[in-house]
Amino acid sequence: MKLKSLEINGFKSFADKTLIEFKPGMTTIVGPNGSGKSNIIEAIRWVMGEQSAKGLRGDTMADVIFSGSKNRRAMGRAEVSMVIDNSDHYLSSPYNELRISRRLYRSGEAEYLLNGSKVRLRDITDIFIDTGLGRESFSIINQGKVEEIFNAKAADRRSIIEDLAGVFKYKQNKARSQNE
Ligand code: ATP
Ligand code: MG
Repeated sequence: MKLKSLEINGFKSFADKTLIEFKPGMTTIVGPNGSGKSNIIEAIRWVMGEQSAKGLRGDTMADVIFSGSKNRRAMGRAEVSMVIDNSDHYLSSPYNELRISRRLYRSGEAEYLLNGSKVRLRDITDIFIDTGLGRESFSIINQGKVEEIFNAKAADRRSIIEDLAGVFKYKQNKARSQNE
């Protein structure tokens, strides 16, 4: 499974339609402060179904729509599409290639598309279930998260590591059975 490309249009600082193609190997995105690096990561989280506006540094979901700049008017719609090579069928979908899109209009109207067909949010989140890639997973570490881990008290840090290692649910089961 590989991320092939990302198309961003009207999302946050990306007023122009922007196509980012990910070549084999590692990709690094560099740029000055405020140039939109984090917005690219947020576009990925958004198209995968992120539901928290705060998690995208906004107050409401409409804050992801390009809000205008000195020389440009605000836009009425944000759209992000992500193309994934699924030829190894790592994701639970029969398609060899997945094109997932999410659109949001200022009116509040929203839609998700999978390979051109309208689908429900659930159909998108189901694709990533059990892969460790879904929302709130540790596969995307935000700015601040690393510091949070370093600055955490030992017990909190341990619980983050346990969460990562998948130990947490066994501890919960153990506590439950000891209480019974
Ligand atoms: P840093 O290096 O400081 O982490 P960065 O490259 O990660 O910076 P981002 O946080 O991705 O930068 O981009 C921030 C910019 O995006 C800000 O200039 C902000 O005004 C702009 N921005 C965020 N939301 C919108 C929006 N809805 N419309 C227009 N611009 C937006
Ligand atoms: Mg950033």
